[in-house]
Amino acid sequence: MSGKVYLVGAGPGDPELLTLKAARLLAGADVVLHDALVSDSVLAMASRSAEIINVGKRAGHKLLTQDEINALMVSYGRTRSTVVRLKGGDPSVFGRAGEEIEALRKAGIEYEIVPGISAALGAAAAAGISLTDRRVASQILLTTFSRGIDGSVMDWGCVTGTTTLVLYMPGADYAEVSERLLGGGLPADLPCVIVSRASGSQQQVRWSTIAALASEEKLPAPALLIVGRVASQEVAEIGGSYWSRNREEQALQRPSVI
Ligand code: SAH
Repeated sequence: MSGKVYLVGAGPGDPELLTLKAARLLAGADVVLHDALVSDSVLAMASRSAEIINVGKRAGHKLLTQDEINALMVSYGRTRSTVVRLKGGDPSVFGRAGEEIEALRKAGIEYEIVPGISAALGAAAAAGISLTDRRVASQILLTTFSRGIDGSVMDWGCVTGTTTLVLYMPGADYAEVSERLLGGGLPADLPCVIVSRASGSQQQVRWSTIAALASEEKLPAPALLIVGRVASQEVAEIGGSYWSRNREEQALQRPSVI
């Protein structure tokens, strides 16, 4: 008997932000393979008879390698009818869904992706801002500095004065993050907001600027950073001309790009 594997987005934490489809699949799951980021209140929505397995990492320590997770998904997919692979936020955003989908495809196992609310959206809601405020933003860039493989080089060329940059996994060293953003040519007084544990009961929002970020107190994980003119309680006055002048000067001063 071959079953189906659902790659399900668990949203940013609050179980009310789960899709109806995710809730239905959890309630009928035979097995739930979940990441560490998935909140207990979401896991509580799984069927009582479901086998629940944490395949994530805690405090940087991986419980299982990606290959082991892929192998588990394949073997459960062959023997159980409803397997839920539950990931924080949305499975397709920094969620390693690509590797898992490939393993399932190769093994000939049916799968379906059930989208979830990614942390960027949960964080914007927590901060009460619009990521694409039409007065100051025209594009959103979801990115991270924590890439282990070839995708590690940040393409600063696509970051403009009307870009909202959302930095996933900013890590604990805000001074380094601040330095890299400045190195990419972003203005020192550009607003940014750190959102910690978005949508959860311990949610925290800290308003800052790229320069001030360096000395901000670290907020608990998971946290992300929204950078850009939208990342302010009053949409920032920093104009596009200041931006491009600043970037041209930076480019002259800095021959190497991070
Ligand atoms: N697939 C997930 C992202 C996984 S990467 C999604 O779509 O949201 C993990 C990173 O997501 C964390 O390091 C953090 O930067 C961010 N994140 C996840 N949940 C969050 C939350 N509730 N609040 C703030 N950031 C969160």
